[in-house]
Amino acid sequence: MFRTAIAGSLPKPHWLAETEKLWPEWRHEGPALAQAKDDATLLWIKAQEDAGLDVIGDGEQSRQHFVHGFLEQVEGIDFKNKVKMGIRNNRYDAMVPQVVAPLKLKGRVHAREAQLARAHTKKLLKFTLPGPMTIVDTVADRFYNDRVKMAMAFAELLNQEALALEADGVDIIQFDEPAFNVYMQEAADWGVKALERAAQGLRCKKAVHICYGYGIQANIDWKQTLGHEWRQYEQVFPALQKSSIDQVSLECFHSHVPMDLIRLLDGKEVMVGVIDVASDVVETPEQVADTIGKALQFVRKDRLIACTNCGLAPMSREVAIAKLQALAQGAALADQKLR
Ligand code: ZN
Repeated sequence: MFRTAIAGSLPKPHWLAETEKLWPEWRHEGPALAQAKDDATLLWIKAQEDAGLDVIGDGEQSRQHFVHGFLEQVEGIDFKNKVKMGIRNNRYDAMVPQVVAPLKLKGRVHAREAQLARAHTKKLLKFTLPGPMTIVDTVADRFYNDRVKMAMAFAELLNQEALALEADGVDIIQFDEPAFNVYMQEAADWGVKALERAAQGLRCKKAVHICYGYGIQANIDWKQTLGHEWRQYEQVFPALQKSSIDQVSLECFHSHVPMDLIRLLDGKEVMVGVIDVASDVVETPEQVADTIGKALQFVRKDRLIACTNCGLAPMSREVAIAKLQALAQGAALADQKLR
């Protein structure tokens, strides 16, 4: 009854990249690196299937970071001269590449891992891409001098890759937009429009993931400042409800998001975050089933997908595997209890 999926990223094995880091260095170069990425992708497909998940992803094993992995294949970006920039409204500093010329795709971005994943799972395959607004917030602009114009330029490129991924056999394309929770007014004003441009013409399911970030210290500290009720979703959900996006992924477990905000997504499929990515403590199936039960007050059973709050990239492999199992077991328990 309840489908299960992960938000997107999974930890990279030690033989592929540095572990428990958000921007890890690769352990290899050239063909050896490509092979290690393939191996890690297959390993995580197997781990997700073994855990019993319904929707499978590539675990983002082929990209160093969820935004920069895409940008590496974009012409008009200077990757050699990264600059330090405060991102997510200056929540933390990152070394980011610079946009220096008109943007154009150099070619396919994720063909290899998408086709590999498609060849190795018969389950629903989800593929993630960064959303236009989040890209704009994770790159230095030396060319457009206009966030909206640059977001629309990125949205066109994302759309090209998304259409190609659909042709590769991907069932769900998800755009990650953590920036929607930071620039709420802008998200409602133009972020959703840029998102729809990125998803234009897709016949597969179109999803968006909006979270409070990875479980890194800067995010944990930021959450402490958000008060006892986190109402960021309230501003952007109405725009999403009117949009052509099919699925919305949100953070629920161990967050201060009032669950009734799910009501604002009437008619959409909701990926309910039932797994905390900011804690190594593994959820019990009872806790997962409990969160599903709470969300069910506001979304129809057949529209609820149990999911992780965010990506698991910076966690240890052991904890991530245990959390995938808890997710599947908790959904099965909810299925029994709430049938
Ligand atoms: Zn996230």
